[in-house]
Order: sequence, then C-alpha cells, then structure tokens
Amino acid sequence: MNLAHQIEQYLPGSLLELVKDINAQAAGRGERVYLVGGIVRDLLLGVPSLRSGSGLRFDLDLVVTGDAVKLARQVAATSRAKLLAHHRFCTAKLRYDSFTLDLATARKETYDKPGALPTVTPGILKDDLIRRDFSINAMAISLAADDYGELIDPHQGRNDLEDRLIRVLHSGSFSDDATRILRAVRYEQRLDFELEAQTAQLLKQNIPMLDTISGDRIRHELELIFKEEQPEFVIRRLDELGALPRISPFLKGEGWIADKFDRARRIKKPGQLSSLYFCLLVYPSQQEEIEQLLVHLNVPTGLSRAVRDTLRLKASLHLLDKSSLKPSEVCYLLQEYDPLAIQANAIASESPVVQRHLQLFLTKLRFVRTSLNGEELKRLGIPAGPEMGKILQALHRARLDGEIKTRRDEETLALALRDARQRPRDR
Ligand code: ATP
Repeated sequence: MNLAHQIEQYLPGSLLELVKDINAQAAGRGERVYLVGGIVRDLLLGVPSLRSGSGLRFDLDLVVTGDAVKLARQVAATSRAKLLAHHRFCTAKLRYDSFTLDLATARKETYDKPGALPTVTPGILKDDLIRRDFSINAMAISLAADDYGELIDPHQGRNDLEDRLIRVLHSGSFSDDATRILRAVRYEQRLDFELEAQTAQLLKQNIPMLDTISGDRIRHELELIFKEEQPEFVIRRLDELGALPRISPFLKGEGWIADKFDRARRIKKPGQLSSLYFCLLVYPSQQEEIEQLLVHLNVPTGLSRAVRDTLRLKASLHLLDKSSLKPSEVCYLLQEYDPLAIQANAIASESPVVQRHLQLFLTKLRFVRTSLNGEELKRLGIPAGPEMGKILQALHRARLDGEIKTRRDEETLALALRDARQRPRDR
C-alpha cells in the first residue's frame, strides 16, 4: 500500500518540507528514514494527530536506520531547532515552534527483568517495529525516494485499525513492560476500540506486573491519561479491569469522577488540567491513605502540596457552609490553602454556599490588597510594630468586606484606629 498522497495531505506544508529535508540529509549519509508510531496510525485513521495536552503540537516519530543522533545534529545545524540528544538510547529530539520530531535509531530491545528499562542495541526496521506496544502503533511509512509512501506493516496493524482492535505483538508484552496495560486502555478509550480477546486476557493476567513498574513511570502514564480529551473513561475502565486499585486501593474510577472531570474542563484550559484532575482523582480518599501514593509516584513537591491541601480543606469545608460568613472570614479561612486545592474543592463540593465562597475567594478575595503599606502608615504617625500589624489587618478586613473602598478611606480608618488605640494611654 502506498500512502504518498495521504502524507502530502496530512502533514502541514512546513512540516512536510522539513521531513523531506531530513530524508534528503539521511540519504546523503546512506541512511533511510521512516515515519512510525502514532502518526502512521492517525494518518490511516484520518484523525488529527494534534494533542491538546502538548499545546496543540505535532509530535512526529521518525526511525532512522543509522545514527539518529548524528543525523539530528546535522539537521539542527541547518534549521532553527532545539536539539536534545540521548546517547544512551540513540535518540534525539528536535524542537520547533509548532512541532517536535523524535528521531530514533532503529533498535532491538531486550528486557533483563520485567518492568526494567530495556537494553538497546542497533537493529533493522523490523526489529524496531516488533519492540512496540500494539499492532496499530507498529507500522511505518518509508520516506526514502525509492519507495516513498510505502506502508510497512508486519503485524497487520491496518487490519486491526479496520477491526478497531488493540492487540499486543506477543504474549510477553505486558510482563516485559506493564505500562502497556495503561497505554492499552488509554488507546482503547480514546479511539473507541476494543481489546482483542487474547490481549484482554493477557492484560488481566498481568495486572500484578504493575508492581514491577517504577512510580515515576506510572506517574508519567497517568499524566498522559490526563492529557486525553476525556480521561475519566480511561480511569473508569482501569478501575473495572483492576489496574487502578493495583496502583492504589484508594483510587476509584466510577460515577463521581466523570461529573467532576467534566466540570474541571469547563473551568480550566487544557494545559492546566492535569494537576486538577489528579487532585480530583484522590478526592474521595483520606490524607493518610494517599501519602504512600504521593511518595511512590514521586509526585513533584508543588502538586503534593496541592493534593494534601485538597484533602485538608475537604475536612474543613463545613466551616464554609454558612451563608452569613463575611468575605473577610472566608478569606482568612482559605488563605493558607493552595489555590489548586480550593479549585478542586469548589468542583467537588455539592453545597452551593461552599461553592460560592470558594469561587469568591479564587476570583476576588485572594487578590484584595490594602493601598497603604507600612511605610505609608509610618508617615501617618503609626510606629512599626504589632500595633501597625493590627491596623494593617483591620484595613485589609475592611477592604474585603467592602466597608472602605479608596485610599482615602484607608487613611481615615487608619487614623481613627490609631487615635482609638492611643486614647486609653492618653488618659
Ligand atoms: P499518542 O501520542 O497519540 O498517544 P504515540 O503513538 O505517538 O501516540 P508515544 O507515547 O509518543 O505515542 O510513543 C510513540 C511510539 O512509541 C508508539 O506509537 C509506540 O510504537 C512506541 N511506544 C511508546 N511507548 C511504548 C512502550 N511502553 N512499549 C512499546 N512501545 C512503545
């Protein structure tokens, strides 16, 4: 099957030009270049290969039968690309404004033990395709002049695309690398495919192999799931298959999540959703239950803090469930919490009063500042020290509650407070 025409239609002009240029440079070095992986799958499906989570960029994978790092270096020198080379894996990334190209030397991979990173040795294209996760991701398109556009499909990926099936390439696939369990479900849900019968059986049998995967790799897969348009379907299915409880028995994927993730999407831009989804995923748990998961997944400090704050605030939400609260009271109850935690609680809470207070804090109260600062209070004759601190806080509170509105109001109130505090001493 020749896909030359489809390539020309599918890739944006500037990217196509670049790919052709890379191919010409490779040919000059006696090497061949192939499009592989997701781009081939998406091109055959006729769906866009842009991922909103990666900022609507084209992420293109190329396999080189030769030295990918040297080729990438050569290409970078003649185009405006940022180069990132991984000598150990014989791969290189070329970053352009609106696309990223991953170049990899065609390679063989062997797994010394389940879950470990593979040992890599150079190979031919067929070796490179058989190390891949699923048949639909194990196709290549040649870019070489003599067979430009030719589809290389040794594992019948095109049939599986037509039959809408996710199929592993061999029975040891999930035990070699159990992240493929998470990947299989992600593609199944994204593409609305099914797990091929034997693949489904192998997947279920190998759920315990998730224990062989490092926390960092599991977290990375979760991040990829959170970049999907509707990650809740992936999470629900992982729960159903027993993979989610294997990652943590406290994570739940049914019902609740769907509604909350949907709300999150209506509030946040795609690029900012991932952390919010994570806070919502752990929301039904208790803080003690989730501590171990945070450590195991090596969750970055900022997000760990937001997760802990989310669960701490959840335990105190009843304090905010009173419509009589003044804005200043709302503000002082919430100011210690990470804004992401407040956002997660605003989405998760069922109480309209709580929701209103949390939104008021997020959209308004947290930005309220007094116009006067310490220096200016000194000029009004208020000495630095605890006295000044109290006056500043009184000004802030009055601002929050809308009792004063202007700088002049602040000065009047500050002087009145100063006088009120001085009076008992004058007597
Ligand atoms: P998308 O970005 O749309 O999810 P993709 O296919 O581009 O899909 P990547 O994660 O960028 O996905 O991986 C590129 C290719 O590398 C895949 O298509 C697959 O062939 C291969 N691959 C990725 N992860 C694995 C894995 N754990 N085991 C085997 N092959 C993998």
